[in-house]
Amino acid sequence: MRTETKCIEGGYNPQNGESRMPPIIQSTTFKYDTSEDMGKLFDLEASGYFYTRLQNPTNDMVAAKIAALEGGTAGMLTSSGQAANFFSVFNVATCGDHVVSSSAIYGGTFNLFNVTMRKMGIEFTFVEPDCSEEELEAAFRPNTKAVFGETIANPALTVLDIEKFAKAAHAHGVPLIIDNTFPTPINCRPIEWGADIVTHSTTKYMDGHDAAVGGAIVDSGKFDWMAHADKFPGLTTPDESYHGITYAEKFGLAGAFITKATAQLMRDFGSIQAPMNAFFLNLGLESLAVRMRQHCENGQKAAEFLHRHEKVAWVRYPGLPDDKYYEIAKKYMPNGSCGVISFGVKGGRAAAETFMKNLKLAIIATHVADAHTCVLHPANSTHRQLSDEELVAAGVGPDLIRLSVGIEHIDDILEDLEQALAAV
Ligand SMILES: *Cc1c(COP(=O)(O)O)cnc(C)c1O
Repeated sequence: MRTETKCIEGGYNPQNGESRMPPIIQSTTFKYDTSEDMGKLFDLEASGYFYTRLQNPTNDMVAAKIAALEGGTAGMLTSSGQAANFFSVFNVATCGDHVVSSSAIYGGTFNLFNVTMRKMGIEFTFVEPDCSEEELEAAFRPNTKAVFGETIANPALTVLDIEKFAKAAHAHGVPLIIDNTFPTPINCRPIEWGADIVTHSTTKYMDGHDAAVGGAIVDSGKFDWMAHADKFPGLTTPDESYHGITYAEKFGLAGAFITKATAQLMRDFGSIQAPMNAFFLNLGLESLAVRMRQHCENGQKAAEFLHRHEKVAWVRYPGLPDDKYYEIAKKYMPNGSCGVISFGVKGGRAAAETFMKNLKLAIIATHVADAHTCVLHPANSTHRQLSDEELVAAGVGPDLIRLSVGIEHIDDILEDLEQALAAV
């Protein structure tokens, strides 16, 4: 099946007389005839469901669709994008380990790594996404267990050279984890470029309608844990909390990573997505291909409009030919990148505030990547604690406006931008 078809048909294949849509299995638990049947599930000897804190059939149908879209072998849903990124790293790195990460990542992920996971004893080295191969190489340590980056960084809009990062990760025998939230598998499939694990905040384009917070993890099934057995004892040595099962042996390349994340991390942290949210997510996935096309078309037109506007100081969008990431975006995302643009209005912070106040269609929201056009002024919201100097150092200047272009009619979007700019 082609990508557009997988959006509709992937993950769920109803049999004669079964519901056309994946059913919402709104049940915390599942019934068995004997304790012996139940025991096999707890030993991971049989596959099946016993408690929705670990696994739920609705979630698994939707996760299978996302895995198919990304070209992976297994997938799981999590309660949020934060949980997905936490699980993806914590499944391979533990206290005393080290991870190399691109510095251009979502602020929430940066805090997760740099504050919370550091407290858990995991060290991170952050490298510029545009670093040279030598600089990247120098970031590795003997205890490095993974490399992490975002295909298109939120909100910096840098585009990652996935092949460069994959090559470095594999030379050191560790997996590359890619957060593919902004392009979605419609515009980029990182596994095709060497990524081993792909994560998503499904809260963004995948849901696409401001309806449900969620996350997803997909395993490519390509990383050979046993070939680097000493680095990944969690996958390659017996798990005593499951009667001595060795995940990489029992579930092989295709299933080890997701089975371990489900059996250990979901069991212990319980960051499961509600089945009802998984149903909403599936509705979003059905229209993902057509929506992404429209987001990219509107995003391109809005970026070009801002680029030629006399009151606009600068525009960052990978689809603009003079953008620093134009060429690399063409390589990894030939059909378009996403609908998110960052730009500055002449007149700095005060002009940004006037512009935002005068918008009528575009709403002010701490969100991106959904059907509604929305804007955020990080200096006044997410990055409010930082001084102007610190803002510049963080790559989010005091004048930066993040515009998430929705799928309304483009002329309405442009007219709104025009009248708000006129007020500046
Ligand atoms: C929003 C976002 C996240 C976090 O996702 P939540 O669903 O809000 O937890 C992670 N990565 C990227 C790139 C994001 O945009």
